[in-house]
Amino acid sequence: MQFVQWSRSSIQAILKSAKEYAYGFKTYSRAGQIFHIPVAPSIDISTYELFVKMREENKTYPKHRRQNDYLLSGHLKCACNLTWRARTATHRNSRKGEWVERKTPISAYFCPQPHKELRLPECPKSVSAKRAETQVWGKLYEFAMNPDFLFAQAKDRVKQLQQRYEHLQKEQQQILEELEKEFVKRQQVITEARKKMRADADFDEQMRELYKVEERLKRRLTTLEQEIDTYARLDWEEKVKEYVADLQAGTEELNNVIPKTPEEQHRVFLMKKQLVDELVAEAMIDGKRDIQVEFRAKIMELAVSNNYWILRMMAKL
Ligand SMILES: [Zn+2]
Repeated sequence: MQFVQWSRSSIQAILKSAKEYAYGFKTYSRAGQIFHIPVAPSIDISTYELFVKMREENKTYPKHRRQNDYLLSGHLKCACNLTWRARTATHRNSRKGEWVERKTPISAYFCPQPHKELRLPECPKSVSAKRAETQVWGKLYEFAMNPDFLFAQAKDRVKQLQQRYEHLQKEQQQILEELEKEFVKRQQVITEARKKMRADADFDEQMRELYKVEERLKRRLTTLEQEIDTYARLDWEEKVKEYVADLQAGTEELNNVIPKTPEEQHRVFLMKKQLVDELVAEAMIDGKRDIQVEFRAKIMELAVSNNYWILRMMAKL
């Protein structure tokens, strides 16, 4: 077989089924199982392997590298309850049947269910990355610009923190009362000893025990007071307002920015991805390729978290 003299399009045409031709079996998928059905081999294995090598080399040096720039990676799901994967097509078949490079590579997300018969009817199988990303980003933008949800969550969280604060204060009060009782007990022991004019080993033992209890209570009190202090100093409501303001500024900025270089484009992508990862809990695609997005916000880690810092940085893009 004179492989080298074949036109590129013929090679590409065979490529799809090259493995079958080379190894002499065809792969079918039925009811979740893979079957190999024998076919007459028409390319020899070394030719096939040369072809695989060529393809691998193409993979290593694609002209438009967009490998990891999938905004929704890890988030998009379908009715099959599978997380979608993404791929980018850099070539296409021309009208003349030739395998030509696309001016603009096309990216798509797809359901990873390999068995057609196991894919649910409501699963749209694939969606162009542009369409899916535009939808989800648009919803994220809406979410960030009307942050009722964020404020509602923040309010809940602030309420929880206040309850914890009040609980700590009650505990502090109890310990102070116990310390007071211990003090009275100690005074009684001392008075008793004076009355009896006695300061023997028994008295020493009693006093040592009482001091031990007091020490323990005081240590607990110190820890409590430190925690109370932390809560008192944190202005949670103010922090939440700042968070929302930063989130809005960052989202607005990312929404309007027009990257001029591929590096800038990648940087913008990374920041958008960070926002998507932080805010999108799940993005479910339906049969009409409409995507329902569930948002979440990590309000609780907010005051001390790096996210907060990242969002501040982002506002300065
Ligand atoms: Zn699916």
